[in-house]
Amino acid sequence: MNFFSIAFLSALALATATRLWLTYRHVQHIQAHRAVVPSAFASDIALDAHQKAADYSGAKARLAMLHTVVDSSALLVLTIGGLLRLLNGWTEAWFTSEILQGTAFIVLFIVLTSAIDLPFSWYRTFNIETRFGFNRMTPSMWFADLAKTAALSAAFGLPLLLAVLWLMGKMGQWWWLYVWLVWVAFSAFMMAIYPAYIAPLFNRFAPMPESSLKTRIENLLAKCGFRSNGLFVMDGSKRSSHGNAYFTGFGKTKRIVFFDTLISRLTEGEIEAVLAHELGHFKLRHVIRRMLWTFGVSLVLLGALGYLKDEAWFYEGLGVAYPASNAMALLLFVLVVPVFTFLLQPLVAMYSRKHEFEADAYAARYSSARELIKALVKLYKDNASTLTPDPLHSAFYDSHPPASVRIARLQSLGGT
Ligand SMILES: [Zn+2]
Repeated sequence: MNFFSIAFLSALALATATRLWLTYRHVQHIQAHRAVVPSAFASDIALDAHQKAADYSGAKARLAMLHTVVDSSALLVLTIGGLLRLLNGWTEAWFTSEILQGTAFIVLFIVLTSAIDLPFSWYRTFNIETRFGFNRMTPSMWFADLAKTAALSAAFGLPLLLAVLWLMGKMGQWWWLYVWLVWVAFSAFMMAIYPAYIAPLFNRFAPMPESSLKTRIENLLAKCGFRSNGLFVMDGSKRSSHGNAYFTGFGKTKRIVFFDTLISRLTEGEIEAVLAHELGHFKLRHVIRRMLWTFGVSLVLLGALGYLKDEAWFYEGLGVAYPASNAMALLLFVLVVPVFTFLLQPLVAMYSRKHEFEADAYAARYSSARELIKALVKLYKDNASTLTPDPLHSAFYDSHPPASVRIARLQSLGGT
């Protein structure tokens, strides 16, 4: 135990307590507003739908609280509790090469933490989502998804991990700069191949059939000066009845994807308005700015690891003897950073909400604020999203503004 142990334990206690407190407030707030539909939505959303949303949000929040407690405890056991030391010792007996040993150590860690997370994922899908009528997955689909994800992670993640550990060992004090370059190239590669090669392993993508909707969408794209490599409809209904629309890829591989569930629920005018919002994110450079932020932050973090890697107090504070392997440095860092950056979460959420307001304004300008409001109300209702989140919880976490605030803003832009 040293000063860094104290700092780590204090930050972990603060982050965990804040998470639990915010989620508790959220549950209480939703419960307190369960009896009455907020007046702005009273004509569109029935009381039973409002109460379903309250119960659904409550169920998800309670699971999140349990997950928080389990994750924080696991982090303690792994670090100061000595579990990482133990796993590392095992893999040292299996391999003599430092890179292979480090890879085995990290893989062992990932398998162990996945084993902790999987029951939560299973419960969310087959208990909560099923109970509220959203789930369409069968257990065999769930296992097939898991197997595919594991195979893809191994196929792409293992070469990346081997490369990173090799660079850490061979490139001297500037290793982190090389790792960053590899990371940026790897991310760009994954983004380029995702739409055409990875997403189809999980879903079927059919080109959108010729229709009045397609003509309407093409007109909107022309009006906004947007070129894409195709409009696709995805069989999202295979897994869940939640609806969505999104863009993937970049440059020439850029695609617009609509969930079939969205198309079946919204009118043509509403779909156009939702798409205009998404186009806004592209046209206002939100997507590229977010990517640049991610790359910038990862450079700063890797630079920080470049410094910490040779500091004895960093390892000893987390229950690991110094000197330790590169794999241990990497893993400790990845585990510990989120504990210290947790309090920055509200800034990230605020930045995202600013973009949502801007994309809504874009949609109001190029499509229709009124149609977007109608679409949002339907989506809130269909997805059983709460209309009454706790304001503090929302300010801390939510990437999207609360329904009432967002719709009031759209109304001021001409949608009544
Ligand atoms: Zn958005």
